[in-house]
Amino acid sequence: MEEDLRSLLQDLESLKGCVSDRYRIGSIDEMKQRVVSIVNLTKSGATRRSKVKDMSAEVVDSNPYSRLMALQRMGIVQNYERIRDFSVAIVGIGGVGSVAAEMLTRCGIGRLLLYDYDTVELANMNRLFFRPDQVGMTKTDAAVQTLSDINPDVVLESYSLNITTVKGFEVFMESLKRRFSQKSGQNSGVDLVLSCVDNYEARMVVNQACNELGQTWMESGVSEDAVSGHIQLLVPGETACFACAPPLVVASGVDERTLKREGVCAASLPTTMGVVAGLLVQNALKYLLKFGHVSPYLGYNSLKDFFPTMEMRPNPQCSNNACIERQKEYLQTKPARDAAAKSKLEAESSKNEGPLHMDNEWNISVVDDSEMDSQNSCGVSGALPEGLIHELPTAEKDHGSLATEESKTVEDDLEELQRQLDALNAA
Ligand SMILES: [Zn+2]
Repeated sequence: MEEDLRSLLQDLESLKGCVSDRYRIGSIDEMKQRVVSIVNLTKSGATRRSKVKDMSAEVVDSNPYSRLMALQRMGIVQNYERIRDFSVAIVGIGGVGSVAAEMLTRCGIGRLLLYDYDTVELANMNRLFFRPDQVGMTKTDAAVQTLSDINPDVVLESYSLNITTVKGFEVFMESLKRRFSQKSGQNSGVDLVLSCVDNYEARMVVNQACNELGQTWMESGVSEDAVSGHIQLLVPGETACFACAPPLVVASGVDERTLKREGVCAASLPTTMGVVAGLLVQNALKYLLKFGHVSPYLGYNSLKDFFPTMEMRPNPQCSNNACIERQKEYLQTKPARDAAAKSKLEAESSKNEGPLHMDNEWNISVVDDSEMDSQNSCGVSGALPEGLIHELPTAEKDHGSLATEESKTVEDDLEELQRQLDALNAA
């Protein structure tokens, strides 16, 4: 039966390709979702858990959110349940995107929008997430099947389309703008876009859409030799966009497609993909739930376990018009933003004035730094408390003798060199 349902899914997908009416495409998508849920039911039967209405911090084995809600008790996140209000769009459900989608699903994200035009192949099995029995399904449908099984509380939307085509771009833009209501109110569009695509052209399309919408996004990438990767935060107008600093080969006008060598396939490792997906979702969580520091750019070189970071300001001469518009808007609102930040800082500092703890049962007291310094300098100058003497020579004496010895050695070395030179000349 599962085979029949799979082929029905494929038929619906090809039917969608022949229809241009947006309303009809929507109903075909709904039909596909229903078929996917039937496939899920036939596969997992009674083991599938039911939806959870409210996230609870109760520590019982049957609570899927107890370990996540503990982040509040540990003082890391103020209000973890807010995660249910957020919508995240993931473009590219490959080695990085699928793992990122699974992580966000397990974290209980409110809504996930998944975009990819490809189908699952056996050649994808060296990476995480997809299973051999999903070969032939579109990546987005296969992802919905797995993810809805893991966490039925997440609203999943599957968009099997190519965003680099005119029609695909239109649907992509519309879906990013669509309003969405969850129990605690209304969200407009999505809160974050994660780009997990593997080519420059698709990144430029995500860049264009996000610049036009003023939408914050994060970009990720893994190198063709599978041993390095990066993530980057892009806030239109505030940080460099993807067109602000194009890769050299693209800036010199070479068509990316001509770079691909016939018969040469890119390498990929589940490890590097997993690390990059982990870094990407970690920063997405920090951004959404407002904790820690969100990296503007974080590289990963697995050969040396090196993680470079840097910040990139927008280019005032960027070739992308929407980027220039967002830069202007950002500059116009700067004074208001600075004033708000200043008053927030002042409010915080006035709140922090006075002792943190009036009394404590361990009689711990805060020692002034200047007091510490004077104590230290006492030790160095040799002024010890009454009755104590230095066992070893003091630091000054040591330094003095070392310094003279060092200069003596240098002089000796120079004389020796001179002698050798003279001997050579004589010969
Ligand atoms: Zn730009």
